[in-house]
Amino acid sequence: MSESKCLFCQIAQGRIPADVIHAGDTLVAFRDIAPQAPVHFLVIPKDHVESLDEADPDGRDVLGDALLLARDLARSEGIADGGYRVVVNTGAHGGQTVHHLHVHVLGGRALGWPPG
Ligand code: AMP
Repeated sequence: MSESKCLFCQIAQGRIPADVIHAGDTLVAFRDIAPQAPVHFLVIPKDHVESLDEADPDGRDVLGDALLLARDLARSEGIADGGYRVVVNTGAHGGQTVHHLHVHVLGGRALGWPPG
């Protein structure tokens, strides 16, 4: 998929509306449109990366920052005390449907394990 047509690139660029909860230089976070928990948001790099499997080691700082931002937003969203889950679906068997790397953060209820 070309970056101009990538849904999450368009959200990162403000060309498609989303419920954005963080907009920084390298990362954007917004609420999932079909939440699977009382709190469910996504953290994405602004630059297009197809999936975790495609991530370049040069992007390690952004990947690390994405996890720390997930942690910070989990706190500000009020789910840190109860606990939360961070998920990166990758590829077909991983259930990835949007081909722009994204970190799911889910919380606000007890989550089942293992995934289906
Ligand atoms: P995945 O299945 O891991 O690729 O997750 C993609 C996620 O993106 C799903 O949880 C969708 O509900 C979510 N999603 C799809 N379109 C939008 C959108 N326009 N705004 C916010 N979340 C979206």
